[in-house]
Amino acid sequence: MEGNKSKCKLYLDVDGVLLTTRNTKVADGAKELIDYALSNYDCYWLTSHCHDGNSNQVLGLLSQYFPDDIMEKLKKIKPTKWDALKTEGIDLESHFYWLDDYAFEAEKKILYQHCRRDSLIMVNLDNENELLQKIRYLENQNLNGYLPGQYHLLNTIYSMSFMERIMFNLKWLRINISSNNLENMSREELLEATKKLKKPWWNFMFFWGH
Ligand SMILES: [Mg+2]
Repeated sequence: MEGNKSKCKLYLDVDGVLLTTRNTKVADGAKELIDYALSNYDCYWLTSHCHDGNSNQVLGLLSQYFPDDIMEKLKKIKPTKWDALKTEGIDLESHFYWLDDYAFEAEKKILYQHCRRDSLIMVNLDNENELLQKIRYLENQNLNGYLPGQYHLLNTIYSMSFMERIMFNLKWLRINISSNNLENMSREELLEATKKLKKPWWNFMFFWGH
C-alpha cells in the first residue's frame, strides 16, 4: 500500500478536538496531532468555523490560542465547503478519516451509505491522553495499510477463538461461494475454495498455520 498515506485525507474538527469546549484552551496533544496530521495526511478543516471554502475565520480563532510557528502549519490545512451536514464537505469516495467530538445521526447515516462509517474517529477530550491515543490509532491504521473497514474486520477476526474463526469462515463461505455442500468439504478443500475468493483480505484469515 505504498503511497496510501499521502493520498489519505484527514478532516479535522476544532471545538472539542484541537480546542477544549469548556474553558477554551489548546487541547493536550493538539500540537502533536497537528504535526502528525500534516506530515502524513492531506488535511482539511471540518468545523463550523470553516464551511464556506475560506479558512480565514478558523485561522483567526486559532491564532488566539496557538503560537505563530504552529499557525504557519495550520495555514496548510485546506478549507471545505458545506451547508447543513459536514459530510457535504467530505470527499466520500476517497480514503479518509474524520476526527470530531460529535456527529449528527444524519451524518453517520451518510457515512454508512458510503461504507465509510469507520472513517469517523470520535474524540472525547475528557479521556486522558485522548489525542495521543488517536495519533496511535491512526498510526496503526497506516502501518497495517488497510482501509478502515478491513482493519476493523481483521481486529474482529484476530480476537476470535479458533472455533469461532472456523464458524465465521463457514458462515462467510456460505454467503460468498455457490458451492452448497460446505459441510462435506475437507479442510483442504475449504482452504482451496477460500483461496479462490477475490476478497483481498481473505488470505489474512489463514494465520493459524497449515
Ligand atoms: Mg466539535
